[in-house]
Amino acid sequence: MKERKNNGSQFWLTKIEPLEGESISHFLGRFRRVKGNRFSAASGLGQVVGLGAVLARWEKFYFNPFPTQQELEALADIVMLDVDRLRLMFPPKGTTMKCKPTLLCAACYQEEPYHRLEWQFKDQKGCDRHQVRFLSKCINCDTAFLIPSQWEVGECQHCGLKFEKMARHQIRI
Ligand SMILES: [Zn+2]
Ligand SMILES: [Zn+2]
Repeated sequence: MKERKNNGSQFWLTKIEPLEGESISHFLGRFRRVKGNRFSAASGLGQVVGLGAVLARWEKFYFNPFPTQQELEALADIVMLDVDRLRLMFPPKGTTMKCKPTLLCAACYQEEPYHRLEWQFKDQKGCDRHQVRFLSKCINCDTAFLIPSQWEVGECQHCGLKFEKMARHQIRI
């Protein structure tokens, strides 16, 4: 992690590295919360980036209209990433997203605790890696998962069951 002053802003912000296949929602949540940044909501970061409420929509996987190159560049500057790297956290053109419910492969989460973008692809029937269906709610209390930008601790926000403990309840494809 390093701190840097962005070209486009007056702020010193802490840079974080994106993880392999990480969704933009999960990444933005981590970025907002990391020490030194502390944007409590997407709207706060949106203001800094000059993108207003657009970031809150992206955190919910609403990509219609699709982010413009200009918007991506504005965000890339603030999060201090190459725009091409940032772009990888968004769906490829032509890929339809399933915005709701937020999906989880607990087996993947067990290996590395973050939300993968491809879990929300509409045509994705389950996890290719583990050959299981995704979970859409807590296996203990049936509460739907929060959007990934709010996955601060990786557990059900209602009953506290850890995501990684849910893997054994995933149905094989
Ligand atoms: Zn998996
Ligand atoms: Zn629960």
